[in-house]
Amino acid sequence: MNNAMAGSDDDERIRLQQAQKLEAIGTLAGGIARDFNNILAHIAGHLELARAEAELDGAMAFHLGEIDKAQQRATDLVKRLLMFSNRQAPQRKVLPLTPVIDEALLLLQSALPPNIRVRTQYADHLPPVAVDALQVSQAILNLGTNAAHAMRAQGGDLTVSVQATTVTADALPAPGLQPGPHLHIAVRDTGSGMPPEVVARVFEPFFTTKGAEGTGLGLPMVHGILRDHDGAITLESEPGVGTTFHIYLPAIVQATAAAPAQGNDDLVLGHGQHVMYVDDEEGLIFLMKRMLSRLKYRCTAFSDPHEALEAFRAAPDSFDGVLTDLAMPGMTGVQLVEAIRAIRPEVRVAVVTGYDQDDLTALDEAGISIRLNKPTPPPELGRALQAMFQD
Ligand code: ADP
Ligand code: MG
Repeated sequence: MNNAMAGSDDDERIRLQQAQKLEAIGTLAGGIARDFNNILAHIAGHLELARAEAELDGAMAFHLGEIDKAQQRATDLVKRLLMFSNRQAPQRKVLPLTPVIDEALLLLQSALPPNIRVRTQYADHLPPVAVDALQVSQAILNLGTNAAHAMRAQGGDLTVSVQATTVTADALPAPGLQPGPHLHIAVRDTGSGMPPEVVARVFEPFFTTKGAEGTGLGLPMVHGILRDHDGAITLESEPGVGTTFHIYLPAIVQATAAAPAQGNDDLVLGHGQHVMYVDDEEGLIFLMKRMLSRLKYRCTAFSDPHEALEAFRAAPDSFDGVLTDLAMPGMTGVQLVEAIRAIRPEVRVAVVTGYDQDDLTALDEAGISIRLNKPTPPPELGRALQAMFQD
């Protein structure tokens, strides 16, 4: 198999150069993406108006529909760019890794064709890691999505294994790691594999072999997440045989025998209030639902703001509060809140902002004061919901 990285000084220099290049491209892309995001919001807004206002004949409706599709793809791309360039510092917590992986795989599996099987092989008694669970599950999801794509023609097996390993200075399994205890996660597929010239470029931003279907931002994001976690990623691949990505994360070895409390001690809990959550990203809906139920709220989620609005209109008193994403295709979070308030003015609302550059003025003008960062760690979410339901 072609090993993507070895450990010589030359490789180290190339690795540093690559990291700097990534950094620079990230900054540049982020700036452009932010401006572009505003332009797209403008297009989406007027598109919505045009569709509502015109008594459309078939041809006009078709063209507007196509513009809408293109606009949504562009919005999605810009979102990925922003996530990649503006990734927040990880909110790390000491926790067991395998439930995070399971959660990501569960999410992945729901979208997989039946000819792709997912298996896990976890060693017993694994030490915990200090990670941002949302970011790590995003990384696993990205690797899984790529693996599924590589296997979609023939089917195959996706195997995720985790074992403990000790990294020593004279035998670094991947450059950039510090010696010490680590978890080694291997994500293996039996898909198409890659020739060496592809292997060499997979972490490059915008490098994709999928044409219009790809963005080339999945692996750069995974790479960034691991770097932020003091971990590393390498790969081996053989055309026609498959690919294995190896991830290393520092493990936490407890000084005392007592395991850290994994309870809900540090969380402010609700008491079954019914929260409507609206976000066009299915993956975040999945995670938010889990978090809300852990925080003892009931949640009904929508990926389409129009559907959310209809559900609210149908039963305005059944929801105690509304939590919404800001940037969504078709209708912004602020527009949704305004429409919902027109139905029931006193309803409790909060918004989840994906990046600090979201339109804060619009939020001020709409009087929406409770804002959560995305991704929201459970303690922060708990406090924000408490503030939202406070009298
Ligand atoms: P995208 O998936 O949008 O193309 P990524 O950064 O996720 O962007 O991946 C970059 C490229 O790496 C892919 O286009 C593909 O050629 C290659 N690749 C990544 N993972 C795999 C895999 N598991 N098997 C085969 N090729 C892969
Ligand atoms: Mg990808």
